[in-house]
Amino acid sequence: MEYRIPLIAGNWKMFKTGNEAVDAATQLVKLVSDIENVDIVIAPPYTSLAVVSEVIRDTRIDLSAQDLYWEKEGAYTGQISASMLISAGCQYVIIGHSERRQLFGETNDTVNNKIKAASASGLIPILCVGETETQRDEKKTFSVLDKQMEKGLEGLTLDEHHSLVIAYEPVWAIGTGKSATPDQVQEVHAFLRDLVEKRFGNMLAKATRILYGGSVKPDNVSELMTLPDVDGALVGGASLQPDSFSKIIHF
Ligand code: PEP
Repeated sequence: MEYRIPLIAGNWKMFKTGNEAVDAATQLVKLVSDIENVDIVIAPPYTSLAVVSEVIRDTRIDLSAQDLYWEKEGAYTGQISASMLISAGCQYVIIGHSERRQLFGETNDTVNNKIKAASASGLIPILCVGETETQRDEKKTFSVLDKQMEKGLEGLTLDEHHSLVIAYEPVWAIGTGKSATPDQVQEVHAFLRDLVEKRFGNMLAKATRILYGGSVKPDNVSELMTLPDVDGALVGGASLQPDSFSKIIHF
């Protein structure tokens, strides 16, 4: 039987100064010290990455950035490269979050450049995909996801040294308190795993973790985690408090 180690990732978005991030990470380290079979990732803002990486050194918690730029270096004011993230202690990077798509002009093409740059540098991309409420109402969910996956992953090669995490985040469920139903989640996750299989083959499809994101809370995580194609969660709001994030990690 296939087994994927569950992965619970917290996206801190634009919350927490350096000191606040260090405090939260320090508390989290204590709260999850008993965890053995769940991979844990936190994604603080850029300015806290280096200090938080010191706090979580030699723990089960890994570090993620919330975005990157695909060029190696250059005159790109405000941008951060993959090697800068690695030197700040990151193993993962979130790419294509719906807030970046909706508020900052992220497209499937820029997502693709970022995915390839991250993977080539050894970072594990967490590719976010998801439909808006209108797209779901118009029955376009699967065509939207198909396009986000097709374009986002174009030209990417995966092997035992280059893995990928996918996060299904229906836009209408992010920060709204309105989580997708277990049936909706499983249906989409199975569809996404199928797309991964078509592109990368059966072995990699079985190894790829597909997270659900959208109003995951301590009281709905365990049901979601029983679904066969749900391998973890990408958590926004409820990851900001170490206590509630720890409860989610202890699903
Ligand atoms: C997110 O922004 O990735 C997210 C899932 O947010 P929330 O958990 O707050 O819905």
